[in-house]
Amino acid sequence: KQPHIRKPEWLKIKLGSDVTYDETRAVLQKHCLHTICTSGRCPNQGECWSRGTATFMIGGAVCTRACKFCNTETGRPLPLDPAEPRHVAESVRALGLKHAVVTSVDRDDLPDKGSAHWVETIRQIRELCPSVTIEVLIPDFDGQAELIAPILQERPEVVAHNMETVRRLTPIVRSRATYDCSISVLAQIAEAGLPAKTGLMLGLGETQEEILETMDDLRQVQCSILTLGQYLQPTRRHYPVQEYVHPDRFTELREIALGKGFRHVESGPLVRSSYHAERHLE
Ligand code: SF4
Ligand code: SF4
Repeated sequence: KQPHIRKPEWLKIKLGSDVTYDETRAVLQKHCLHTICTSGRCPNQGECWSRGTATFMIGGAVCTRACKFCNTETGRPLPLDPAEPRHVAESVRALGLKHAVVTSVDRDDLPDKGSAHWVETIRQIRELCPSVTIEVLIPDFDGQAELIAPILQERPEVVAHNMETVRRLTPIVRSRATYDCSISVLAQIAEAGLPAKTGLMLGLGETQEEILETMDDLRQVQCSILTLGQYLQPTRRHYPVQEYVHPDRFTELREIALGKGFRHVESGPLVRSSYHAERHLE
């Protein structure tokens, strides 16, 4: 059994509870929407929700995969809710968002793995909120170009797919996904001429060398936006934190990544994939 490592000071945060936060929650509850902010127990919920930013999770609340770091419910999902794309769009409008981030659970149970549902969600947001920029954080669709291309054809402003970790740790902490498949997804995004974005969690036991190798692999396929954040264990049943990476190292890694040619890098203990996402458009 792993010893429990104490959380350092820089990770102690307070949850917001001001008016905007409550309003955001009310809008999301009204439309029965799931957010990754809540299910992922994101430490920035107070800050983001107070600013009226939220990351919507489509495809239901149950994922067909079971990654060891992830707090999303796992199992057999319900059929897709055909009203969900419209509800997301209505919430984007009700919350007055400028930049909407959408992600989904993995739907390996569906023949198209949820691809058409993704397309419909982007279309509904475009229709209801034409000035809103859209960022999608997509699953790997097992790398299948025919399922990924229709989403890219909708031209979201940013398309993200998270590597989550370095090559060696991928089979240990991710379920079904492979490192090379995720790299190929990012390659497809960049080849379509869209900004390709990815995120890595640090503190899973990766070495500095492995992080740099991953950065190189990402630059090789023209991935241009990178987020680096501290992995936090959602519950005791999840993969244990191996290290709390010091804020100075996050700063150093940001500099290295910029030096390798990433156009935009968010790096810090509390950084999550969608943190400050609106800035990636600059
Ligand atoms: Fe939600 Fe992303 Fe903000 Fe976390 S960083 S609260 S997931 S919008
Ligand atoms: Fe979580 Fe893994 Fe499912 Fe993504 S694929 S929602 S990380 S269990």
